[in-house]
Amino acid sequence: MINERMRRLLDCLAAVHQEGGIDCATAARHFTSLCEQALNGADIHNILPQAAAHIAHCPDCQEEYEALLAVLRAEQSGET
Ligand SMILES: [Zn+2]
Repeated sequence: MINERMRRLLDCLAAVHQEGGIDCATAARHFTSLCEQALNGADIHNILPQAAAHIAHCPDCQEEYEALLAVLRAEQSGET
């Protein structure tokens, strides 16, 4: 049954989702795609709410994410 599968998947995710969020390694895996979409004007909270929430609450990830964002933004404006 779908519900059973969903539940197992959610249980699996919940192991990482303590404190209502994901861990640094999981968040970091999404940084590149989040940055690219943010640069395209997307709201990362709509794309990956949990990763966005983690970035908002984790100073380390925030720093890393913003550094990556700055690099990609520079690349984007340098290329035509
Ligand atoms: Zn983090």
